[in-house]
Amino acid sequence: MTTMESLIGLVNRIQRACTALGDYGGGDNAFSSLWEALPSVAVVGGQSSGKSSVLESIVGRDFLPRGSGIVTRRPLVLQLHKTEGGVNEYAEFLHLPKRRFTDFAMVRKEIQDETDRMTGKTKQISPVPIHLSIYSPHVVNLTLVDLPGLTKVAIEGQPESIVQDIEAMVRSYVEKPNCIILAISPANQDIATSDAIKLAREVDPSGERTFGVLTKLDLMDKGTNALDVLEGRSYRLQQPWVGIVNRSQADINKNVDMIVARRKEREYFATSPDYGHLASKMGSEYLAKLLSKHLESVIRARIPSITSLINKSIDELESEMDHLGRPIAVDAGAQLYTILELCRAFDRIFKEHLDGGRPGGDRIYGVFDNQLPAALRKLPFDRHLSLQNVRKVVSEADGYQPHLIAPEQGYRRLIEGSLNYFRGPAEASVDAVHFVLKELVRKSIGETQELKRFPTLQAEIAAAANEALERFREDSRKTVVRLVDMESSYLTVDFFRKLPQEVEKAGGPGGPGGPGGPAASNAADRYSEGHFRRIGSNVSSYVGMVSETLRNTIPKAVVYCQVREAKQSLLNHFYTQIGKKEAKQFSQLLDEDPALMERRQQCAKRLELYKAARDEIDSVSWAR
Ligand code: GDP
Ligand code: MG
Repeated sequence: MTTMESLIGLVNRIQRACTALGDYGGGDNAFSSLWEALPSVAVVGGQSSGKSSVLESIVGRDFLPRGSGIVTRRPLVLQLHKTEGGVNEYAEFLHLPKRRFTDFAMVRKEIQDETDRMTGKTKQISPVPIHLSIYSPHVVNLTLVDLPGLTKVAIEGQPESIVQDIEAMVRSYVEKPNCIILAISPANQDIATSDAIKLAREVDPSGERTFGVLTKLDLMDKGTNALDVLEGRSYRLQQPWVGIVNRSQADINKNVDMIVARRKEREYFATSPDYGHLASKMGSEYLAKLLSKHLESVIRARIPSITSLINKSIDELESEMDHLGRPIAVDAGAQLYTILELCRAFDRIFKEHLDGGRPGGDRIYGVFDNQLPAALRKLPFDRHLSLQNVRKVVSEADGYQPHLIAPEQGYRRLIEGSLNYFRGPAEASVDAVHFVLKELVRKSIGETQELKRFPTLQAEIAAAANEALERFREDSRKTVVRLVDMESSYLTVDFFRKLPQEVEKAGGPGGPGGPGGPAASNAADRYSEGHFRRIGSNVSSYVGMVSETLRNTIPKAVVYCQVREAKQSLLNHFYTQIGKKEAKQFSQLLDEDPALMERRQQCAKRLELYKAARDEIDSVSWAR
């Protein structure tokens, strides 16, 4: 394929893709601007001037409805795609995707039917284009637009406005600066009356994008010729005029085929006494070559602006894609992978909160450093170990027989009673840390950008994480309560052994924490205030020692059971459950807003297309 062919083919492919996406001009998106930046060719002329016939001979196939009267009633956007190798020619309509027409008579019928579908079997027109692609090794890459012919009066069955309507429709195509105008005038009419030239001059005054085509040379009056027009003396255009001889209606009725018609046209010019010297620059085949050559130069000139438009669009689309998130895979394996990736993304952020880097983990330390010691300090040991209560507990423990040396039972009951108070702060620490963790889960889910698209998965992860935290809390609660229970189940014997023995030390200083009692060693003394005060103060210092221990061990237990577990296995249970799920449940977890999915799909398609276009343009530009 030559550079020219690939260039035009590229434009064609981009246009085809734009068409498939529903962007063919008029819109305000980048694709519409791209479509409008790419050149196309439109045929313009009076009714029955031979527009459809010219298009057909450029294509080299019979497929357009032709005849007298208003035959073309909707724009036909015709894209010719040159195929490599093989000779399988086929046509495809945008409105009938996937149906390949190989019988071109059927193509003609479908154009008629599709016209009627929009306009009814009337003589009315519609500006809604029919899109047709032809794939063939025998065509040049081109986009051509067949348009209804310009008329002068409304005929029976047409609204009065039809003349203006047709003109407006044709104008909307040819006024675009990227439109190459194929202005068709019949040679058997004075060029001064040509509707085609009239309109072309209005929209392209300099004549740089207008190709003058003179049809029906064979129908001119004997003794006249069109040399003045063809040689540019009647009406000057920047492009050369091309004379054409299409098939007559009689030929059409006799089914004269295209090959024969082209041969006859060649013969006509070769043997014509008037045009023989111009023969090499006349005829449909020459017109087709002239057009694609012109297109090449137009496209070449536009490559830089097309490239920058494409690059700009790619940037825009990529940022939109980032915003929308990557598309979700359809197969279960990939979906599972996506789910796990999303969980991990959440988990990463959650860990950052705990380990620092993100705020929140410090609040756990706050629990251990402030909340727990404060709660321990506030425990009502003063009341529990008041003289009055100590006396009461000890006496009750003694029963009818007062203790002799030291009130063993009394001590034990007092200590047990005191240690019970530790359950409160221990459990409160567990709960406080639990709420910090819960809050961090909530925050982390909110901060996981990738999860934003998946509200269902978000909710599932939150539920699973909270459930896990609940389990950790229960485990932690049991552990700290056990720590407290352990303290009361076996007392530190040494502590009591080291206490000064009242009997031996009678008269000496009192036990730790309290002033010594009166120096009396008789039994009566055992029940004096000082005695109970000493007991209270002994228990108090034992409890103080235990409190110190718990202040250190409760945080250890809480971190071990809750924080460490949350870090290591917050979603483990969830993973196991997911492993047991069925494939179709994955897509339920990954369900997104359908509108969002649709937008992403469109976006992805476009992006793919633009990137392909960019690559192609690169390769074509380098091939120069
Ligand atoms: P359109 O209305 O401009 O699309 O014109 P058509 O292509 O439908 O042609 C109108 C009629 O003119 C048809 O009957 C054609 O056979 C006939 N016709 C078109 N071009 C020529 C030509 O160069 N020579 C002859 N003899 N007839 C032609
Ligand atoms: Mg026509």
